[in-house]
Amino acid sequence: AGHLYVVATPIGNLGDLSPRAQAVLGGVDRICAEDTRTTGSMLAQFNIRKPMVALHDHNEDQSASTLVQALKNGQSLALVSDAGTPLISDPGFALVRAARAAGVTVITIPGPCAAVAALSISGIATDSFTFIGFLPPKAQARAVRLKALAAETRTLMFYESSHRIGESVDAIAEVFPTRQLCLARELTKLFEQSITATATEVAAWLKQDSNRSRGEFVLVLEGAEASDAHADDAEATRILRVLMQELG
Ligand code: SAM
Repeated sequence: AGHLYVVATPIGNLGDLSPRAQAVLGGVDRICAEDTRTTGSMLAQFNIRKPMVALHDHNEDQSASTLVQALKNGQSLALVSDAGTPLISDPGFALVRAARAAGVTVITIPGPCAAVAALSISGIATDSFTFIGFLPPKAQARAVRLKALAAETRTLMFYESSHRIGESVDAIAEVFPTRQLCLARELTKLFEQSITATATEVAAWLKQDSNRSRGEFVLVLEGAEASDAHADDAEATRILRVLMQELG
């Protein structure tokens, strides 16, 4: 059977497509892409021309079985998304899972991932972290989600687009005003910028210049203090004890 290569692509700077990624993309039979036009123009810069197949959230389940059949017939495939690492807030999960279930060898060609890139420059604890992805777009659902994360001691990582960065940072500042927050925008691009300060300060910083709300963003938020979590554990233990008594 062929191999399935999961290939990371640049998040803004073409220089970040690794030599190994170039070799694999040039060597496979077909490339599964989130958007064949976006990937096509990226590959053209490297003089790579390959048959492509579109793989997005709407068609992934159906396409996965067809693609796994092709893999079992001996074709090798590369999976890419528009930018960064596939499957990280991007399509590919159904294909990878189906390939594994069918016994196909899945190989990583690692590279850029906006979340990990931002975390590594944030100055916020990296020993333990959790990826949340995009917050809900509606204000109330967003506030509920943030409050549900209040006791989380691990560093929290969010993705955000320019449409909602102001609203999201304001919401974070409302729930966690004094926590450290890193806002990283346009990583690896011409206007790359990052700031780490309290959430309140970052919210004010954003409002000072409308250019600061442009582009693509990662937010890295300091987790709760361990003592808060212990208080939570104590509460959980207390509730458990009550429940066990009820159950006799
Ligand atoms: N799979 C990608 C990865 O590995 O990072 C993420 C894809 S997700 C659909 C797109 C989001 O990633 C953007 O809205 C933004 O939050 C983040 N992102 C992507 N490129 C970025 C960059 N150059 N700088 C900051 N954030 C970026």
